[in-house]
Amino acid sequence: MENENALGSPKIKKAEPKLEITLSELKEFVSQSQAEYAKIIADALIQSKIPYVDPRQKENEEIFRKSSRETADRILDSIKRSQASCPHKQGCNELSEVQGALSSFVFHRLDTGEVVGLCTNCQKEVRSTNPADAAFFKDKSANRMSSAGVRTFMDPRKAMLKGRLDGGAEVKEKEVV
Ligand SMILES: [Zn+2]
Repeated sequence: MENENALGSPKIKKAEPKLEITLSELKEFVSQSQAEYAKIIADALIQSKIPYVDPRQKENEEIFRKSSRETADRILDSIKRSQASCPHKQGCNELSEVQGALSSFVFHRLDTGEVVGLCTNCQKEVRSTNPADAAFFKDKSANRMSSAGVRTFMDPRKAMLKGRLDGGAEVKEKEVV
């Protein structure tokens, strides 16, 4: 039944139905609303602390990173090619006038006892634990070996391999026991 007469007099409000809710339900509803509100505030605070970065700056940085990666790749490629053709002898650099018969490796004994050699021309790295590098340790060198302090290990060979960045992976593959 409509509560409005033909002259358009104001509606008479119907009585709204009463809500039946227990105290614990009310408490739960209130605490839930508070938790949601707290989350909104926390998210807003976190967002406000993130500094604004201009998208053009990001783009420039990406271009710079890409260019740096390309340069590094070119250098690595050049080193690899140089290592493949290097005789590892003193004076073997293409700018040198005379090439000697002595080895161009400089050697260093690590505290694990492993000896590491580095070619002063092509940067090739050789290690006493790698059987494939044995020949490089036979050549006479004018460079005097440097050395770290000496430590004693229960298992010296294990210590040498563990001391390497790759854990001696290369040696383990090639090694014939
Ligand atoms: Zn070399």
